[in-house]
Amino acid sequence: MTKDPDCIFCKIANGDIPSDTVFENEEFRVILDLNPATKGHALVLPKYHFTNIYDMESGYTGRAFETARSVALAMKNGLNCEGVNVIQNNEALAGQSVFHFHIHVIPRYKDDGQQVLWKPGKSDPEEQKKLAETIGNAM
Ligand code: AMP
Ligand code: ZN
Repeated sequence: MTKDPDCIFCKIANGDIPSDTVFENEEFRVILDLNPATKGHALVLPKYHFTNIYDMESGYTGRAFETARSVALAMKNGLNCEGVNVIQNNEALAGQSVFHFHIHVIPRYKDDGQQVLWKPGKSDPEEQKKLAETIGNAM
């Protein structure tokens, strides 16, 4: 596991650049997003450099999502939000703009004006069967 001297989230996670820190332990720093979707929008950052979910060290991903769960519960208790979105983007096409793995934890409030859900599509039973097999066989 390495840290990338040119990566802004490596610098923030390791305290080389100041941030509004919610929580910190040996492996992660949770900060507030600079351009929050809603009040309290937080990011879970590993202190080591992983570009995205594909190259996460085994075990790290689970602990990152456990941390996101703790943050979500704290938002429910502390901010009285009415919902929480946990979102994690991989690659530019999927909306990743900072190429250091992070999990968004976004508290949701009534009439917050945000739309972070997808438009539901239609499924074809045959195609679904094939897709399930294709993904399953690649695991
Ligand atoms: P993503 O598009 O999933 O890669 O998310 C990147 C997030 O990082 C965006 O929501 C940005 O607002 C946020 N961000 C970028 N730079 C900073 C920074 N210096 N401090 C806090 N959040 C940042
Ligand atoms: Zn990094």
